Amino acid sequence: MINETLSKALNDQLNYELYSSHVYLAIAAYCSGESLDGFANFFTVQAEEEKFHAMKIYKYLNDRGIRVTLSGMDTPNNEYSSVLDAYEHAYEHEQEVTRRIYHLSDLALNDREHATIQFLKWFIDEQVEEESMFDTIINKLKRIDKDSNAFFMMDAEFAARTFTPPAL
Ligand code: MG
Repeated sequence: MINETLSKALNDQLNYELYSSHVYLAIAAYCSGESLDGFANFFTVQAEEEKFHAMKIYKYLNDRGIRVTLSGMDTPNNEYSSVLDAYEHAYEHEQEVTRRIYHLSDLALNDREHATIQFLKWFIDEQVEEESMFDTIINKLKRIDKDSNAFFMMDAEFAARTFTPPAL
């Protein structure tokens, strides 16, 4: 049995993952506006991934007999000064997600809610991957700096990113 505080926090996280999807689709739109289709594709895929994260929690709450409720969301940032600026924003966003997942894990641990502790492990691993990915890209973008050839090669590379949702 999941207590009320924990179920509310899980439901909030579901909504925050949907908000994350919104944040990344807004970045994709910024990249499209700059005619950087590869970077736009990268963030469109990222937005899909976030929706998948939300659905993972949606299914878990349903499985545990908890009624899911959706909330409204804040307007994401739509304007960026550069692709690097957008990635730095994304990295900060992922660090906030990690803080929230850790808070959820603390709640589950305090309540000895073992099924939820187990469920959240996937998200903890995922956050290590997300933070590492954004950190690496930021470092590359900084190294590329004003080398436009390298920048457009990176754009081309990201055009190939796809997302195939695993089973929930
Ligand atoms: Mg996520």
